Amino acid sequence: MADSSDVRDVTILGAGPVGLSAAYYVGHRDGSVRIVESLEQIGGQVAATYPEKHVFDVAGFPKILGQKLVDMCAEQGLQFGADVRLGEEAKTLERLSQNGEEVLALTTDKGNTYLSRVLIITAGHGAFEPRRLGVDDIDEWLGRGLHYVVREKAQFAGKRCVIVGGGDSALDWTLGLQDTADLPITLVHRRDRFRALESSMNEARRLEGEGAVRILTPHEVREVHGDGSIEAVSIENTSTGELERYDCEALITLLGFVSHLGAIAEWGIELEGKRQIKIDPMTCETSMPGVYAAGDVAGYPGKITLITVGMGEAAIAANNAIAAIRGEKVQPKYSTD
Ligand SMILES: Cc1cc2nc3c(=O)[nH]c(=O)nc-3n(C[C@H](O)[C@H](O)[C@H](O)COP(=O)(O)OP(=O)(O)OC[C@H]3O[C@@H](n4cnc5c(N)ncnc54)[C@H](O)[C@@H]3O)c2cc1C
Repeated sequence: MADSSDVRDVTILGAGPVGLSAAYYVGHRDGSVRIVESLEQIGGQVAATYPEKHVFDVAGFPKILGQKLVDMCAEQGLQFGADVRLGEEAKTLERLSQNGEEVLALTTDKGNTYLSRVLIITAGHGAFEPRRLGVDDIDEWLGRGLHYVVREKAQFAGKRCVIVGGGDSALDWTLGLQDTADLPITLVHRRDRFRALESSMNEARRLEGEGAVRILTPHEVREVHGDGSIEAVSIENTSTGELERYDCEALITLLGFVSHLGAIAEWGIELEGKRQIKIDPMTCETSMPGVYAAGDVAGYPGKITLITVGMGEAAIAANNAIAAIRGEKVQPKYSTD
């Protein structure tokens, strides 16, 4: 249980680019911030799904890598000392009284309860989680050879790796672990066609010719074997039905992420369709007093889900939230000094 006496001005739910922008605007107004994020990393969809792709339409950046963009959002948004809680999914929202003050209590799947005067929901499409292989009890192998992301290449030094996926991440790591893993790296995809960049595919095919990559398509991993940790996987050739066993110590599944609004949809806040929270675009407030929303999760007629739009909403939400907490008229303050 977190220290419940620690009431922040604002809890921000979601550490994507919009949540980080909201953290900036609240911090800039001298408000205290806590950010709760279900993933173990910040950066939202950008960091999770397209860190290595260029973004061209964010004002001030004619061309910037996704990861670089969110790194800069983090540098800007966290400069005022936000308390960042990663790896915690928000589950319940209640209103309670604390020392005579009415506050919002956000409780996460880790059992921590975070108190704040207002809440800004910047949850994108909802909590992200990795798309999993269709193998029974697959999560039991986590920490025992199964990986949903590659954090440090050193973890794979000298290991026989099976990488599953057909997109850029799978190809990027098939190439990126060439100098680290035991070769060949086995790349498994359920279709013959890959979605990854042609140049990455060409390089993988070239390495296949040299024996440094083994490409298996259309194949699917059916079973994981090991005593304590992963020692081998059985992979089916889905065009012939043949099952073959491949020794490996690391199974890296890079199948993208799935997201769901989840518990947020049960909090009694009016929704816009099935996937968004309805807001008043003038204030970004939801139907629940003291609860604001911005970014992809916030909906109203004509909404465009782009980073720039979400950042604008973050400024509106943060300034309205600060004004509401202080009982002031909404008035932005310039950041120039
Ligand atoms: C492939 C791709 C390319 C794109 N290219 C562009 C582009 O070029 N330009 C552009 O403007 N936009 C682009 N977009 C859209 C852009 O990424 C989104 O508009 C932007 O990420 C929205 O930011 P956000 O902070 O609102 O939400 P997100 O980035 O989705 O972040 C939300 C965060 O909230 C967390 N969260 C959700 N629910 C919970 C919960 N219950 N508890 C804890 N944490 C939670 C999630 O884990 C996530 O990290 C692209 C999107 C994709 C998928």
